[in-house]
Amino acid sequence: MSPTPRTALTIAGSDSGGGAGLQADLRTFFACGVHGMTAVTAVTVQNSLGVQGFTEIPADVVTAQIKAVSGDMGVDAAKTGMLATADIIQAVAKTLDEVHIGRHASIPFVVDPVAASMHGDALLREEALEAIRTELFPRATIVTPNLDEVRLLTGLTVTDAESQREAAKLLLELGPQWVLVKGGHMHDDPHCVDLLSDGAQFVELAGVRHETEHTHGGGDTLASAITASLAKGLGVPDAVSTAKRFIERSVAESYPLGAGVGPVSPFWRLDHEQI
Ligand code: PLP
Repeated sequence: MSPTPRTALTIAGSDSGGGAGLQADLRTFFACGVHGMTAVTAVTVQNSLGVQGFTEIPADVVTAQIKAVSGDMGVDAAKTGMLATADIIQAVAKTLDEVHIGRHASIPFVVDPVAASMHGDALLREEALEAIRTELFPRATIVTPNLDEVRLLTGLTVTDAESQREAAKLLLELGPQWVLVKGGHMHDDPHCVDLLSDGAQFVELAGVRHETEHTHGGGDTLASAITASLAKGLGVPDAVSTAKRFIERSVAESYPLGAGVGPVSPFWRLDHEQI
């Protein structure tokens, strides 16, 4: 028998291609040594070429999954990915309060405000964006938007360090404890500079940009690596810098799969010789 590892819950959609969504979260949790659990919100039909469609899970079934695992197994940290509809978001927010997950409770909560895939396919019904702002952001320990999501949430187009800082301030006004404004999509910058802030500190986290087109699941992998580190008890700045090293290596080790965009890969963390 082994000691029970820390636990992390992802509230997210399924990617049939296995590169993003809850599949990316689970393999990241596994690679980071925490036990992963899932509350499935939607089932996407998807491959390397894009998302062909999705069906959402009824909100009461999403709620029941969260209650089932948190009541029995315990959750050391949770995250959200694709949430699909305003109904699901409202039900998730209410349930998280009941099970004491979130910035005002004892359990860290990461919100990755997923709106669309990198191919531009919608993963969130349009009316649900407001629910992310009003229901989830105030409960979040940290939110991790990319620049497209920043534009959708604040109306601001980030082009440089100054506008990135402005975006962080606007997002913090929505109530999260920390914000990580990911700069990975500012392609004329040779580095990937992410800005982490709680309103008092503004920390620029520079990383190396790897020239690969295979970055499917990158955002999910970063957010779930942050969640895993928080589940292990790290503070937010340490959890983010640890996760940033994790995603950098996972992007460097991404692989082609299918005719389109291949996934980032945390396989480097495993000792394949042992298997
Ligand atoms: N599919 C699901 C279920 C997701 O949750 C996400 C992102 O969170 C994606 C697809 C999109 O991933 P990417 O933008 O890396 O292609």
